[in-house]
Amino acid sequence: MIKYTTCYKIKGVRRCYSKGVIIIENVYDLLIVGAGPAGMTAAIYAKRAKLNTLMFEKSFPGGQVVNTYEVDNYPGLPNISGYELVDKMRSHAENLGIEIKTEEINAIDIHEPVKVIKTDKNEYKTKTLIIATGAKWKKLGVKGEKELTGLGVSYCATCDGAFYNGKTVAVIGGGDVAVEDAIFLSNLCKKVYLLHRRDELRAVKILQDKLFELENIEILWNTQVKEVIGENKVEKITVINTSTKDEYELEIDGLFVGIGTEPNINFFEDILDKDAQGYIITDVNCETNVKGIYAAGDVANKPLRQIVTAVSDGAVAVYSAERYIIENF
Ligand code: NAP
Repeated sequence: MIKYTTCYKIKGVRRCYSKGVIIIENVYDLLIVGAGPAGMTAAIYAKRAKLNTLMFEKSFPGGQVVNTYEVDNYPGLPNISGYELVDKMRSHAENLGIEIKTEEINAIDIHEPVKVIKTDKNEYKTKTLIIATGAKWKKLGVKGEKELTGLGVSYCATCDGAFYNGKTVAVIGGGDVAVEDAIFLSNLCKKVYLLHRRDELRAVKILQDKLFELENIEILWNTQVKEVIGENKVEKITVINTSTKDEYELEIDGLFVGIGTEPNINFFEDILDKDAQGYIITDVNCETNVKGIYAAGDVANKPLRQIVTAVSDGAVAVYSAERYIIENF
């Protein structure tokens, strides 16, 4: 570790000198990357702990949860929309004074105790870093999917569902997202097919019960998509029944893919340990294999990816970052 001869803290920014030369200037206590529930919670806890903190989000704050039309399991706020919930979190963090920069991180130097983060616009120095970059939708990887994305292929029912009023759509997947999407779309569409690759859903029972009650939803079990077909818009899909090996076409106007997520780790990839699915490995303190770097929320490996677990990680990560700063700076 670098030994400094003199350090001053002015307005929360520490400036250190060694042999008359400024070695560190404008070093943040904490940088948070990602402004979803984990990042927002980290911002709230960091501001309350008076850490000199800056937050980054490459596009809009909120994370994936903004696309959830109804969050029914966040304690104390039943039936709130995902958008409203994260908007409340954002207001809370902003009222405490968090500054959010719309910049994308594209490099990180961890060789010094002070980490250097480079964005598309600037360079920042920080003692600690919380990665709360969340996850992105997984693709089916079948012929026609990429070409027809935005032309009938969608990964977000709440964003695009309104385009399919009175039409026929297919939803792919058997988890909470696909089942929620199918239920949501059944309110708008004439007919919804739910295609699942097995004969049993992964979604929670309460959602399954709602799904099975809806008459305009038809579940196609043991069924996978082989190809998405259409000229300038989705017209049909070729599907295969994995038990009977029957292959047939299904005429649809829209295809909603809800088959899970994969972590957004891009430039962190080479420096952090990951599990087999690519999620960042952390301990109970949300600490990664690099001292002073924490992962919180859906980007981290964990048994349950929910808003409450993301929020919990955000708080734990800040607590750990504070301890690290006290012990190391
Ligand atoms: P998920 O739980 O991982 O489910 C993904 C589904 O897609 C599974 O049924 C899986 O099939 C299927 N699948 C995966 N790859 C496929 C492929 N290549 N082709 C066809 N099907 C494929 O993912 P999710 O539903 O997106 O949910 C992600 C996380 O968010 C979960 O932890 C969920 O509980 C959480 N969530 C929380 C809330 C909330 O808190 N209110 C709301 C929505 C989601 P198998 O079952 O055969 O593996």
